[in-house]
Amino acid sequence: SMIPDYLAEALGEVAADTTGETAGYIPELATADPERLGAAFAMVDGEVYGAGDIDTAFTIQSISKPFVYALALSDRGFDQVLAKVGVEPSGEAFNEISLESGTGRPLNPMINAGAITTHSLAGPEGLQPAERVERITDGLSAFAGRRLKMDESVHASEMEHAHRNLAIAHMLGSYGVLTGDVRAVVDGYIRQCSLLVTARDLAIMAATLANRGVNPLSGERVVPEPVVRQVLSVMFSCGMYDAAGDWATQVGIPAKSGVAGGLIGALPGQIGIATFSPRLDSHGNSVRGVSLFERFSSDMGLHVMEVP
Ligand code: GLN
Repeated sequence: SMIPDYLAEALGEVAADTTGETAGYIPELATADPERLGAAFAMVDGEVYGAGDIDTAFTIQSISKPFVYALALSDRGFDQVLAKVGVEPSGEAFNEISLESGTGRPLNPMINAGAITTHSLAGPEGLQPAERVERITDGLSAFAGRRLKMDESVHASEMEHAHRNLAIAHMLGSYGVLTGDVRAVVDGYIRQCSLLVTARDLAIMAATLANRGVNPLSGERVVPEPVVRQVLSVMFSCGMYDAAGDWATQVGIPAKSGVAGGLIGALPGQIGIATFSPRLDSHGNSVRGVSLFERFSSDMGLHVMEVP
């Protein structure tokens, strides 16, 4: 059909770009095959199209953040979550040690400080760390429409070098934004980041957001509609970190990237898009993934600020 041909052609056009580096600060990720390249479209009616490496498993990393934010909002309600994590773009790197002055509240849930906090807010109050990871694994699996597994070696590898995330968590602890065993929260957050997905899974997860919170394959309502609006808004303004403004103007699709090379976009009422290519730019966003989204957006007129 036309769409797979179009996708294969788009992959061919970006394949020669070998700029960027795989994430070096997680040793296990640095060993990933940098030539992997795939793209998948999941329509809100459940149709999935793809080309290239769309069934290769890699860790979800920061692409887990919008989905766990969605779970926290549904499990705890808006007031409890917003009291602890803001919705303002930070204009800073994903791992910046920065909190709102005075309150210690992370600026938004897409940077690590905010995501470590929303991790602690998934599930009902009083869960044990392992139960919280279970809630998140169940929730992300519902978004994907299949049971997701964890990559224990990526988790172990990141935990050995987690000084920065631990520093952020201890700061959050000092302000009372995190309570209890902050090391266990970081461990759980890194487990969440170590869930294995494929580009096909990510396209379906994005399509679940595009489809008002209902998984187009399983028909399951994963989160309520107001939660989806909140999550997509924050993805639009904060999903690409300190490249969010360039992305908003040039691509114009709510999106989220991960340091294993995944990238998703969700266009309300239409489509979930995912790309996979491990080499990253200086912001930690996939180089060829960003090029692919620029193409998709202009070729198909997907910019949300454009009248179709
Ligand atoms: N687990 C990674 C970290 O916390 C996720 C970062 C990312 O994908 N941008 O550093």
